[in-house]
Amino acid sequence: MRPKEIRRGSLIGREERGSETWIDVSDPATGETVGAVAGASVADCVDAVERAAEACSEWAGSAPRVRAELLRAAFEEMKASKEELAELVVLENGKTIADARGEIDYAAEFFRWFSEEAVRVSGVLRHAPAGDKRILVTKQPIGVSLLITPWNFPAAMAARKIGPALAAGCTAVLKPASSTPLTAFAIGDILRRAGLPAGVLNVVVPSSTGPAVQAMLEHSAVRALSFTGSTEVGVTLLERAAKRVVRCSMELGGNAAFIVLDDADVEAAIQGAFLAKMRNGGASCIAANRFYIHEAVREEFVAGLAELMRRCQMDSGLEESTDLGPLVSAVERDRVSALVDGAVARNAVLVAGGSRPDGPGFFYPATVLDRVSPDDTILEAEIFGPVAPIVTFGDKDDVTVLANATESGLASYVYSRDLGRALHCADRLEVGMVGINRGFISDPAAPFGGMKASGLGREGGHDGIEEFLETKYVAVDWSAG
Ligand code: NAP
Repeated sequence: MRPKEIRRGSLIGREERGSETWIDVSDPATGETVGAVAGASVADCVDAVERAAEACSEWAGSAPRVRAELLRAAFEEMKASKEELAELVVLENGKTIADARGEIDYAAEFFRWFSEEAVRVSGVLRHAPAGDKRILVTKQPIGVSLLITPWNFPAAMAARKIGPALAAGCTAVLKPASSTPLTAFAIGDILRRAGLPAGVLNVVVPSSTGPAVQAMLEHSAVRALSFTGSTEVGVTLLERAAKRVVRCSMELGGNAAFIVLDDADVEAAIQGAFLAKMRNGGASCIAANRFYIHEAVREEFVAGLAELMRRCQMDSGLEESTDLGPLVSAVERDRVSALVDGAVARNAVLVAGGSRPDGPGFFYPATVLDRVSPDDTILEAEIFGPVAPIVTFGDKDDVTVLANATESGLASYVYSRDLGRALHCADRLEVGMVGINRGFISDPAAPFGGMKASGLGREGGHDGIEEFLETKYVAVDWSAG
């Protein structure tokens, strides 16, 4: 199907349901409309929950091996459709084709990982200390789960939730970001081709997000909410979920510090910084957002990073030679541009980028800001774009105190040739994930998540499936007769 012909209805049970209201999807490289999805009404969204509820007991009662093999088939299907899916991600999100291919591989791995986890859910049987009974602990699927995802990784964020939810035996309603919904429907197609029964996964894009999500959260069948997005929206949803005590997993905003100590391999740190900053054009929750560089290595680091940033080829993500695609929307591009202008007005030194190009599309160049003051407000913002603000620290500064001076606690990076020093830093950093001498940390087999205002719970690893399981204790009288 040609991109301009993409038109998707809500996936509700067996049905692909249209609407009187259609939501346009545009290509951030041109601003042109490339497709549309049905704007689901509140009633459609409630229907989606009901179809999930109807499918729940059969899916929960299916053999773990059946669920595992279905997810494994989805992994194979996704790998087989990699190129097509990657192009779809570029089309609606703007990232480079290389990043999009990487995202599809990453997303598919969640199906493979959770196909392997589906058959490893365990329980406990032990003697009570008083000797009066056995303590039997089992796990069971929590029930209908509402999965809400952001625009920055339209495939991976969906797969990171769908994989564990289905593996655990839960049915779900997926609500993708309204700016990048096409990939979510394509993932729905993949799961159908892999043999997923109708109603187990439903996909809706509400025409009015807030009221529709509220109505779904108020439905008595919904037992879990797994949300990835901004801290601001996450807090609102926590408040709403509290009314029915719905289990919440929250993957929220980040503000990662990238720390280079005086004994670091500076060339490796430059390469790692570029990767940690520029994957997905900087629109990643674990993107390096604040750079703390020791004064002994600052000059070399800034020169090296600025050189890499200046060399970034900015164009449509579909061109193989592109290193940096557009931001997802004009609003995002203007927000990033204002952050840079503000920092420069407060005396930060522009070393690369910093000026908005004319023309169509929502482009912003790779930008380096040197000599940023440790209390500059740009360090409080989640930049979510290709901008690297650099703060210099010296021997008298405790760099972990600087790094911890934020409500966010998702990820950090530390570069040092002395592993002991780096691990000491990692211990002190108030974050859920640390990269030591690496700029890339995501791995489906590792627990992904944050401390402080960056979230609750973990996705991936052995922890991911637990978010969709309830623990049940049964007291068993084992005595004869
Ligand atoms: P967002 O504005 O919070 O939106 C995320 C999702 O929430 C979208 O599906 C959005 O739907 C929905 N939403 C918005 N307002 C809502 C409301 N009032 N009630 C219910 N749902 C609502 O975030 P974003 O701009 O898409 O994504 C960027 C953010 O996600 C960043 O802060 C980033 O750090 C975070 N993120 C975190 C992780 C992690 O693992 N910790 C991973 C990726 C991204 P609409 O599109 O319809 O508005």
